Amino acid sequence: MSFITQWLRSDIQEIQAYHVPKSKNMIKLDAMESPFLVPEDLIEPYLAYLAEAELNRYPDAGAQELQQTLRDLMDIPEGLDILLGNGSDELIQLLALACDTGDTILSVEPSFVMYEMIAKFTRLNYQGVMLDENFEIDLDATLATIKKIQPKLIFISYPNNPTGNAFDREAIKRIIETSDALVVVDEAYYAYAQDSFLEEVSNYSNMVLLRTVSKIGFAGLRLGLLIGNPETVAHLDKLRLPYNINTLTQASANFLLKEKDRIVANAQVIIEERSRLFNELDAIQALTAYPSDANFLLVKTPDANALFEFLKDNGVLIKNFASHPQLTNCVRVTVSNASENNALLQQLKSFYG
Ligand SMILES: *Cc1c(COP(=O)(O)O)cnc(C)c1O
Repeated sequence: MSFITQWLRSDIQEIQAYHVPKSKNMIKLDAMESPFLVPEDLIEPYLAYLAEAELNRYPDAGAQELQQTLRDLMDIPEGLDILLGNGSDELIQLLALACDTGDTILSVEPSFVMYEMIAKFTRLNYQGVMLDENFEIDLDATLATIKKIQPKLIFISYPNNPTGNAFDREAIKRIIETSDALVVVDEAYYAYAQDSFLEEVSNYSNMVLLRTVSKIGFAGLRLGLLIGNPETVAHLDKLRLPYNINTLTQASANFLLKEKDRIVANAQVIIEERSRLFNELDAIQALTAYPSDANFLLVKTPDANALFEFLKDNGVLIKNFASHPQLTNCVRVTVSNASENNALLQQLKSFYG
């Protein structure tokens, strides 16, 4: 037996590592990234701005300028405070660290896999509640489970990854109003959705909102934010590691995220492409696309493994849910720009010819 296998927590030995497939030179439609790079005309001034960063110093600990940049970009109301994370994944972990031994995290299924993984890492219990056949919250079952389990934290992805829909707003409000848990509404896809809980945060002491810049063109920055009432944010902030947002991320975000008009215009392109791609997919007899409020589409196929392998062999990477218990034979494709979407469609048409 090796040193590490004797030494490591047995539950961690059994976990499958978060798998990131190889994607060099492929059209990457598996991770909800944006196809838009830093605009040509901004590259020089951006580099000049970065050159002024003092890399010999620790980062601005409170990241005040960055907080203001994000407030302006996302129209965050005055009365709410912001906690920054190295991606919203770090904030999910921070929320889990705020829980006590024996506490339970609850979410719906299928949803974002990190909720359950982070519960495992932090030795918390995890309880999933199945969505109904339309991927909508089963309110009776959810409320009954909440009553029985008394979770400490509830994660609701709005819109939901990987199903793409935004759940019924009233159902989410009922969950917030009837439970003693802190309810985390995860709006990673806010830019592609028609609705938000941002205006509700100040109405509920037991709710916070998560957002990220990963799905709007800046996945490489690793920058997420928790939006909450000032008292909540002040207490949670004690769990944040000092200087968790590095100087290059702060500088890049302070330069690039001030381009609000371009960010909004890019999101609009994706929203229009989403509707075109949906219609084109629907026209392929073998496929059923589910409606989406996010920058991806969940698609039911006759044989997800075969499709996934064919696309991979032809240079297109998507997410395969072939063996997922509730998403049998489904795949998830990121909505990209017209040329990448057309490349996908061309491969799909040749596969299903
Ligand atoms: C992609 C995603 C995240 C992760 O965001 P990062 O800021 O990149 O860590 C969080 N929540 C949901 C629902 C996501 O789909």
